[in-house]
Amino acid sequence: MKHTPLAAAILATVLGCTALAVHADVPAPQNAPYSAGALKIDVDATDLAHRVFRVHETIPVSAAGPLTLLYPEWIPGHHSPTGPISQFAGLVVKANGQTLPWTRDQYNVYAFNVDVPQGATSVEVDFQFLSPQDTRQGRVVMTPEMLNLQWNAVTVYPAGYYARQIQTDPSVKLPVGWKFGSALEVASQDGDTVHFKSINYDDLVDSPIYAGKYYKRIDLDPGASTPVHLNIVADDPKYLDIKPEQIKIHQQLVRQMYKLYGAHHYNHYDFLLSLSEKMSGNGLEHHRSSENGTPPGYFTEWEKSWVMRDLLSHEFNHSWDGKYRRGADLATPNFNVPMGDSLLWVYEGQTQFWGEVVAARSGLWTDNQFKDMLAAVAATYDKGRPGLASWRNVQDTTNDPTIAQRRPLPYRNYQASEDYYSAGQMIWLDVDAKLRALSGGKKSIDDFAKAFFGVNPGAWDVDPYTFEDVVNTLNGIAPYDWKSYLRTRLDGHGPLIGGVEAHGWKLVYTDKPSDAIKAVESFRHTADLMYSLGVSIGKEGAINDVLWDSPAFKAGVSPGMTIVAVNGRSYDPDAIKEAVTASAKDSNQPVELLVKNFDEYKTVRIDYHGGLKYPHLERDTSKPDTLSQLIKAK
Ligand SMILES: [Zn+2]
Repeated sequence: MKHTPLAAAILATVLGCTALAVHADVPAPQNAPYSAGALKIDVDATDLAHRVFRVHETIPVSAAGPLTLLYPEWIPGHHSPTGPISQFAGLVVKANGQTLPWTRDQYNVYAFNVDVPQGATSVEVDFQFLSPQDTRQGRVVMTPEMLNLQWNAVTVYPAGYYARQIQTDPSVKLPVGWKFGSALEVASQDGDTVHFKSINYDDLVDSPIYAGKYYKRIDLDPGASTPVHLNIVADDPKYLDIKPEQIKIHQQLVRQMYKLYGAHHYNHYDFLLSLSEKMSGNGLEHHRSSENGTPPGYFTEWEKSWVMRDLLSHEFNHSWDGKYRRGADLATPNFNVPMGDSLLWVYEGQTQFWGEVVAARSGLWTDNQFKDMLAAVAATYDKGRPGLASWRNVQDTTNDPTIAQRRPLPYRNYQASEDYYSAGQMIWLDVDAKLRALSGGKKSIDDFAKAFFGVNPGAWDVDPYTFEDVVNTLNGIAPYDWKSYLRTRLDGHGPLIGGVEAHGWKLVYTDKPSDAIKAVESFRHTADLMYSLGVSIGKEGAINDVLWDSPAFKAGVSPGMTIVAVNGRSYDPDAIKEAVTASAKDSNQPVELLVKNFDEYKTVRIDYHGGLKYPHLERDTSKPDTLSQLIKAK
């Protein structure tokens, strides 16, 4: 999954005690075939007006008696119990033409119990997925122009079996004339109803559909025996005006990823990309596809949209790191067994690392854009996470998908949240520098990627790993006490900028924002003063974040307040920056803010005289520049 404002629109359902998720009444999954037959799953996705998906399932059964049907709870890529149960409605179960009463397990609200009558060979299940009407309810996945069908939201399945041991025959009825992209293979098409080839339930849930009125499909690996396509749906055909050089850069992404890993684990791969301001953004990985959602100008406002341009490289990287290989505690048998997230600093951390490095290698980013973005991340793990310097560590943040489920947080910098992504990226940058140092420049993290993820070409079955496997692979490349090296960084409280320094660069702060800061400010409509006053300000003066114990924090500024005026003038982003600059020239001049808190107005004086501060990378000529080597196209 991508950890950006684009992905942050995911609002999870708030659930009860997940420790009780596997209740004694729910049969534990067995690694044995569901021998009663394939689930026939028919989804009607045509009700765009109501944004309702209507589902009919025929579930073969081999015996009379108790049957538990599960709605998926633990969603791969989310690493957390975010299955949209609050939008599941209208459940009716029938057998032998009779309606069967159902009861929900009070300790596991995703489990529905029915009693199959004598003589029944199947149960017929009907329900609806009432997809969000508003982003406050979750991701909007249906608009007049496009839809995003995720099979976990539109299926129930029998408890007691590994998901990969249950076969399915899925079909979907699409709005008239719409086209679609998916990793699913088509068996037949009957008007607007598409019947897919049989697929096991695990792979079905891993194979979503993006469909739309305006659709374009681009070959990203022409002539290859393993095709890779970019499937795009858009709010309007004008957003599908894609330049040949933009296609070339995305083809380079495939080339560079293949050069990195040397092997892949799919028979075809389909990027699914929505260009929309109506359908919610997304970044969700799958084995043979990925869900990507950006604002409409991804191609048509190419220069303006560069900040988000590591999205496809991030999600593509997950086919290797996260889908083919994942932490053993994440390789769960079905979607209703709790996931263990202890190795997300590999799954998401190294993917964050490669997503950005391969973005630079393939030309999605320039070298300077890469370095600007890295400076912003380095600053976060230098001064921007007081919570990691005091009470939490990176390892503990791997629990955040379950703790916070991406709900907004009051003091994110102090609470820390999902820092295994970007702190993980900093740790892997450090590992790369160490591998180079230990091997006299002969080895690098590319060797780790190839040895750990680029194995068994063509194999599909998940190949799980443990912490010890990571350590052993590193030792195989360059012997060292990698266990202590990693644990110090994962369990400690120190800044994590050693990788930047070891690669021949210094993190510095100047009064000029980098292109990355400027782009993020314009993309998110924010003013970023985190390393000066200690505050990040959103639209119309709304305070988004206040750095714990910063000058603004100590003066009484809090998230939730709105800045109305600065030094007696109406707030605007330039006014506050000018005030910070003025206070640096005069030690008697504080930055004076008029803030609104509920219906109360008050004046806050911030006694800060350090001037504007923005992070940059500056070359340290006493060391070789291995960072530039790292991001060079292979
Ligand atoms: Zn990810």
